[in-house]
Amino acid sequence: MAIDAIDRSGLTKELRQGLATELQEAFIKLAKAQEEERGHVEEEEKKKEEEETDLLPPWAKIAEPHRWLLGASAAVRVEYHPDFGRHVLAGRNVVAGEVLFVERPLVSYLDPEEAATTTEFCHECFSKVSVPVPCPTCSRVVFCSRRCRGRALSSHHQVECRTHHVFRGVGLDDKCLVMLAFRAVAQRPHAFFAENAERLFGGHDVQRGAGDNEEEEGVLDVDDAGYRALFCLVTHESSRQDMDVATKTVFAVFLLECLKVAGYFGDISDEDSVEVAAVVVGRLLLHFLMAFQFNTHMVEGVYDNRLICSHDAETRIWKEAKK
Ligand SMILES: [Zn+2]
Ligand SMILES: [Zn+2]
Repeated sequence: MAIDAIDRSGLTKELRQGLATELQEAFIKLAKAQEEERGHVEEEEKKKEEEETDLLPPWAKIAEPHRWLLGASAAVRVEYHPDFGRHVLAGRNVVAGEVLFVERPLVSYLDPEEAATTTEFCHECFSKVSVPVPCPTCSRVVFCSRRCRGRALSSHHQVECRTHHVFRGVGLDDKCLVMLAFRAVAQRPHAFFAENAERLFGGHDVQRGAGDNEEEEGVLDVDDAGYRALFCLVTHESSRQDMDVATKTVFAVFLLECLKVAGYFGDISDEDSVEVAAVVVGRLLLHFLMAFQFNTHMVEGVYDNRLICSHDAETRIWKEAKK
């Protein structure tokens, strides 16, 4: 398009050729720079993962991992009781000081309660930032490294970068439960939800993983198991007041419209197909809004270590807040 514009510019042939050559060289340089950036990110990613593995002192590692319950020790087992729901029991004697859970969050959100929070902490890993790495297209977030920026831009931030000003404008950006529901969707492409509409998001099994059901869980890979666990959290939908469900539905529709405006469905060419995909995603937004209300935990003042705590072994949602 730029070469076309040069051709139609009315400049002399020599000038046009000169400009076109400069433009092509600039594109080649840009492509090389992007290639190098990708290389750096991959390098950083590998280094950081090695560091993270080494970060945990020996006493904080799980000696005997559970066969399928991610981040759990084999010392625990999941049970279900109609009176108090799904819960974890010790499956054998637990030694004093034995680590039973070490988890990464499946969805997390940095609470922007104080303005400084957004520039002091990495929006991907929540580490305290010493040399901020900016987002290339907004000034609302910072990252601790190109690795974290690369991760965020390839998942939630490619959408949130375009919606943040809307959320800030309507006062939603500090409603962490709403933002968590949005991020749970935004961090994965719509095709993931469509392809797994039945397999992962088909049956709301609040007894998932308990007792005899545990064998079937072993067949899911890590990512799928995480989303299946997320979907099967309790929502208490049947006990909710109509007005509560109606309010959450309005939120879900609003979030869905934000996704559309941000180009989340941009790779779908016809409107009918967009609507089909939007129904799947909208239903999940509503479900996550209801589930997160009863399954999130605020982690206050824990910035420099990664110990994730949760009352439910399968809940990997947490809310970061600055006290
Ligand atoms: Zn980071
Ligand atoms: Zn941004």
